[in-house]
Amino acid sequence: MKIYNTLSKKIEEFVPNVDGQVKMYTCGPTVYHYAHIGNLRTYIFEDVLEKGLKYLGYDVKRAMNITDVGHLTSDADTGEDKMLKGAQREGKTVYEIAEFYTEAFLNDMKDLNIKIPETIEKASDNIDVYIEMIEKMLADDYAYISNGNVYFDISKAKDYYQLSGKNPEDLMIGVRDTVEEDKAKRNPADFVLWFTLSKFENQAMKWDSPWGVGYPGWHIECSGINYKVFGEYLDIHCGGVDNIFPHHTNEIAQSEAFVGHKWCNYWCHGAYLNDETGKMSKSKGEFLTVSLLKSKGYSPIDYRFFCLNSHYRNPLTFTYESLDGARKALKRLKSKTLALKDEGNLDNESFTKYDELYKEALSNDLNTSSMITILYDVLKDESLNDKTKLELVKSFDKVLSLDLLKEEESVIDTDLEKMIQEKIVERKEAKKNKDFATADKIRDELLEQGIKLIDTREGTTYELI
Ligand code: AMP
Ligand code: ZN
Repeated sequence: MKIYNTLSKKIEEFVPNVDGQVKMYTCGPTVYHYAHIGNLRTYIFEDVLEKGLKYLGYDVKRAMNITDVGHLTSDADTGEDKMLKGAQREGKTVYEIAEFYTEAFLNDMKDLNIKIPETIEKASDNIDVYIEMIEKMLADDYAYISNGNVYFDISKAKDYYQLSGKNPEDLMIGVRDTVEEDKAKRNPADFVLWFTLSKFENQAMKWDSPWGVGYPGWHIECSGINYKVFGEYLDIHCGGVDNIFPHHTNEIAQSEAFVGHKWCNYWCHGAYLNDETGKMSKSKGEFLTVSLLKSKGYSPIDYRFFCLNSHYRNPLTFTYESLDGARKALKRLKSKTLALKDEGNLDNESFTKYDELYKEALSNDLNTSSMITILYDVLKDESLNDKTKLELVKSFDKVLSLDLLKEEESVIDTDLEKMIQEKIVERKEAKKNKDFATADKIRDELLEQGIKLIDTREGTTYELI
């Protein structure tokens, strides 16, 4: 496998620490709201990476955290604590919010055929590990106590700027311009390991610690969970590009301070999904979730296919038009794969030839669009019999996970059916009120989504085109 490493800014041959065994960590969601489809683009990329490594013969162990305690890094953080804000918005406790949105996130993963990592750890379940790490960092002078909080001293970290490629001046400017200065810090970019005193005093989750009752900073949770699950070495760490700085930069600083040597060799980051107005966010306009797409009649796998047609390191803009395109293409593709008959003998030579091509595309920094092209080539190849095509499709789908050999899921059908029936009732109502413009609009919108309404004497039915 060749993969782009943010640490070296190069595509590198992937060599795990222990032969054939890959320890993989992916930063998990902050569970104060639903995940938007931008967040989920990152998890789709990580899923393809994990399955791709397995396809190439590696034994992958993957862990992910759930950020349920705060999201804070410094007393100079702007805005509010997201978890608390979520709890206030819904009149629930922080624990209830965390549980609800963790479940919703796992359901989104299942809908998108993303394999759930075998180890999932809640940030709030690992307080003892953070305390152990912070105590050692204090003893070794990587950390200091000031104004009630424990800070990490970034001037003690080796190569603090390597991952982000930033320089100290950039950070100084960032600190001065965007956030209020925290006078308790030695360096403006120092970050909090443990809070006991902060302006976010109404934190709901607090624990006893050697430095008083308080709560951990954001970055320590991933270093702590990594240490607990994998020990002193990690092979590959992933996230979205926004995680590069400060989150992953600070994870490296803490973990290497604690273990006393280089910790993780490969850092892989997925580019953003943007909407037409720019960066996707949870507070802006129509909040794009998997449920929203489902309510509009799309299958979550249409979205997965949309993502896989682009390279994970290229920013991608979401529009309904491009999702429609992906949906139509997937429908056509599935009509071909589902028509394959389990007949004839497997042609081993051709199977190996195409499988090698597929593995080459996969090993080329996860070139998913080439992998899909190879799938089309298989289906087009008239010299292959159905059995060989079928086995190749089955095999390729272990990584792509597009349900290429599965008839439409009944649960999606039910959602789609419900949505169409509601639209039919709405349109009937509009017609009754002589609002033909609305009635036509409903018909046209459904047609754009590949749903053709048919008016009969008995009522309106539909056909998927
Ligand atoms: P959060 O729940 O905010 O901690 O984010 C969860 C994951 O989604 C992180 O790995 C982020 O890097 C990633 N992420 C956030 N916004 C986007 C976006 N618009 N496109 C792709 N990934 C994103
Ligand atoms: Zn993390």
